[in-house]
Amino acid sequence: IRTKEENVEQLYKQLLHGNRAALAKAITLVESNAERHFTQSQHILQNVIDRTGNSIRIGISGVPGAGKSTFIEAFGLYLCSIGKKVAVLAVDPSSSKSGGSILGDKTRMEELAKHPQAFIRPSPSGGTLGGVNRKTRESILLCEAAGYDVILVETVGVGQSEGIVRDMVDFFLLLVLTGAGDELQGMKKGIMELIDLILVNKADGENLRNANRTAREYNQILHFLQPATPGWQTKAKTCSAINGTGIMEAWEVITQFAQNTKDSDQFEKRRSEQKQQWFFASLKDELERRFFQHSTIKTQLPIVKKKLDQENMPVSTAVKELLDQYDRREE
Ligand code: GDP
Repeated sequence: IRTKEENVEQLYKQLLHGNRAALAKAITLVESNAERHFTQSQHILQNVIDRTGNSIRIGISGVPGAGKSTFIEAFGLYLCSIGKKVAVLAVDPSSSKSGGSILGDKTRMEELAKHPQAFIRPSPSGGTLGGVNRKTRESILLCEAAGYDVILVETVGVGQSEGIVRDMVDFFLLLVLTGAGDELQGMKKGIMELIDLILVNKADGENLRNANRTAREYNQILHFLQPATPGWQTKAKTCSAINGTGIMEAWEVITQFAQNTKDSDQFEKRRSEQKQQWFFASLKDELERRFFQHSTIKTQLPIVKKKLDQENMPVSTAVKELLDQYDRREE
């Protein structure tokens, strides 16, 4: 009988050989909230870290119904056809709260899911959006170590999660629909300024003319906005995820982007900033977790809370009192 350590050893070696089952298991360890699994997943990450980074990480967002899963199926199959290995991960803000998800069920991207060069993983559920953030970032690294060279991170365009995904990808793509006149007005400038390419989807049939017009309107607005990536002019183009037009062109834009940003060092610069930013965010999360789990705080917090009410203690005094007790704590 093999020990657990030997199992983990086996796992990362299989993962490095591109074994999909091993990759899936490793991601399960990363997603687990159990302490033992955390230790195991860190061991795997340490051993594969030298083999990570060799991919283009692409974020894909859009409101429900924009055509994200249809697009990812078409785009992913195209990438497989030109010899790429494609991993699809998801960050779903709804699944972290309720366990239900906006990003749908297992029947999505059916053909891509069956393709030997593709790997699809639904959003980790449970825990906070911060937890989903860490899990997705570590899953990206595991996919890269397993040889996937295009990583697609899908999210829903409903707010918070776009910023989180922007901070973990090299390139961010937004799918929109026509008749976006109002949406265009109302769309938050902040979101527009996260985007490297806008694709007006469903540019087919009777909708084609409208789609072209919408793309022109976006291009006019984009002209006045701060680009998401220094040195790169964000553009709007059209595509049809259903009949496959504009799919190859979207990939051309992305390869052009990768070339430009690698030449200007912006690519590496962003990745290293993302790593630093993730480090500080994780550090803060962990400090907070340890603080609230400490026995001193567990006993003192209710006492200080009571004083806040009964002795009419100022809030800042209460905070200081608790932190002073933490500083004097015994391990
Ligand atoms: P998601 O919620 O963003 O993942 O959107 P889906 O991919 O589920 O697509 C929503 C609906 O739009 C589905 O009924 C699709 O068949 C349809 N759809 C997606 N892409 C296209 C397209 O390029 N053209 C047309 N006409 N319909 C599309």
